[in-house]
Amino acid sequence: MIPGGTGRLGPDERAAALEALVTHEFQVLVVGGGVVGAGSALDAATRGLSVGLVEARDFGSGTSSRSSKLIHGGLRYLEQFDFGLVREALTERALLLQRIAPHLIKPVSFLFPFTHIGWERAYVGAGVSIYDLLGIARGQVRGLPIHRQLTRSSALRLAPALRKSALTGALLYWDAQVDDARYVVDLMRTAAAYGAQVASRTQVTGLLREGERVTGVRAVDLESGTELLIRAQQVVNATGVWTDEIQAMVGGRGSINVRASKGIHLVVPRDRIQSHTGIILRTPLSVLFVIPWGRHWIIGTTDTDWALSKAHPAASKADIDYVLSQINRVLAVPLTHDDVEGVYAGLRPLLAGESESTSKLSREHTVAHPVPGLVMIAGGKYTTYRLMARDAIDAVAHGLDGKVAPSCTDQVPLAGADGFQAMWNARAALAKSSRLHVARIEHLLRRYGTLIGELLDLIADDPSLGKPIGGADDYLRVEVVYAVTHEGARHLGDVLARRTHVSIETWDRGLSAADEVAELMAVPMRWKARQVARELENYRAEVAAERKSQEADTDTDADAIRLGAPDIVPVLANGAGH
Ligand SMILES: Cc1cc2nc3c(=O)[nH]c(=O)nc-3n(C[C@H](O)[C@H](O)[C@H](O)COP(=O)(O)OP(=O)(O)OC[C@H]3O[C@@H](n4cnc5c(N)ncnc54)[C@H](O)[C@@H]3O)c2cc1C
Repeated sequence: MIPGGTGRLGPDERAAALEALVTHEFQVLVVGGGVVGAGSALDAATRGLSVGLVEARDFGSGTSSRSSKLIHGGLRYLEQFDFGLVREALTERALLLQRIAPHLIKPVSFLFPFTHIGWERAYVGAGVSIYDLLGIARGQVRGLPIHRQLTRSSALRLAPALRKSALTGALLYWDAQVDDARYVVDLMRTAAAYGAQVASRTQVTGLLREGERVTGVRAVDLESGTELLIRAQQVVNATGVWTDEIQAMVGGRGSINVRASKGIHLVVPRDRIQSHTGIILRTPLSVLFVIPWGRHWIIGTTDTDWALSKAHPAASKADIDYVLSQINRVLAVPLTHDDVEGVYAGLRPLLAGESESTSKLSREHTVAHPVPGLVMIAGGKYTTYRLMARDAIDAVAHGLDGKVAPSCTDQVPLAGADGFQAMWNARAALAKSSRLHVARIEHLLRRYGTLIGELLDLIADDPSLGKPIGGADDYLRVEVVYAVTHEGARHLGDVLARRTHVSIETWDRGLSAADEVAELMAVPMRWKARQVARELENYRAEVAAERKSQEADTDTDADAIRLGAPDIVPVLANGAGH
């Protein structure tokens, strides 16, 4: 059982955390609230350390909500004979799927069409056999079916959308997928439940030093403008593509160089591609995934160098054209720009090698200890965040006086995970007692796991919260309120883009749902009418800028257009960059 309950992250808890951050000296202060920072906070808290965490924007709003949302070993690393890396990731996949977050992670199958006769089936089949085998290594039960070879006609039965001439046969294998943004929130809540003091919209602007040693950080609560001095024995820099900026605060000392590579995804309605399975295609440089996502498909990704805005990487028309052209190689009915409901772009924090092209750089992570009191962690991928966090806190432990317990996060289910299977099995009964349709209960269970009771209680108190959101009827009104009271959402975009995914799952990118969502947020956020209007105006401007940037031909133009819409809570120019 988690000691601090479910780790509620409402506005009052944020205020209390900010107070605690300036009145205590922490053993560990984590900078960055993506999956690696949240994972590090949980790792440290569950070793019995006192922990603080600050995030400049919304939790998970950096790379960790913009990924392909796969928990995978990375089939293509096999071609680089990186068996160790693949096995490690597949061990994590089994752990996350079965113990740590069964509510948020689920199996997904991919069809790999062959375009050649003979050798390709043997070559890919051998690779996927190794992939399957690596997944059951070290006594781990993989929890996923073994791959299957398919004839062309059985492949076409599974994926009728494919053009007959586009394949000679196929192979079907299994991996796992995650709601990446929600995973960060659950990770953060679990860390808070174990005692971590966490605050979003709080930017580190400098490091406190005593001689060489880092003794904490200088930060700003961006919501109020208040300056904070946070003292800590060890500071962990988990800022992903912003790593170099924190590193620069110690005079650029440190061995980690992170470079950003942009990847974009398109979201299209499920009926545009008739298939009972995900699809993976080889592309000239990498691979392209077609991933089932509720009533939609996510299609991506790209891999191009990016040196412009880190907070708002923009997808250009060229990026979108590229993804469409790759998927259209195999579809019987090609997709056009008009089929695209949503677009998102993210930046991979790659460890920089000197002259390699971005898609060849290793996804492995690295930990550095450039000066006493500062630990840097970077690289890696979503799937292996727990190992990154473990390694970062191992480095922290070296710098702390006294003995620190080893990492135990392989034994720590996230908030909402414990008892999930039993509750899933009881979903029909839950539907009956709550008077919600069983499909709604399944939706809530997949998003909140065993915390569903907290939402059902809110609905019992106010039945209007059990109604769908107008213009985004996959979601219930209660989810908006809960996002604010329990999940750290503070602004309209936090709810529309990350607690829900309305911004990429609706044709109008959430514009028609925005008024109702803002009104629902206003009560727990204690917003006056003026703030509601500001939130709406800001969200509309962001959507307009994103749409326009996606018509631009080049990255530079797309970036300039996207930056035309200012952030609702702007970060400061020094420190976390733009
Ligand atoms: C297109 C794409 C597809 C991907 N697909 C997959 C996949 O399918 N599977 C997989 O395993 N991995 C995938 N990845 C990789 C994975 O998403 C990343 O490795 C991971 O999310 C990085 O997490 P992070 O915590 O290091 O960085 P982030 O999530 O970016 O977190 C860093 C945080 O630090 C904050 N910050 C920065 N400066 C400051 C400051 N001064 N003060 C306070 N906070 C600060 C930022 O606001 C940010 O939230 C993908 C990546 C991309 C881009």
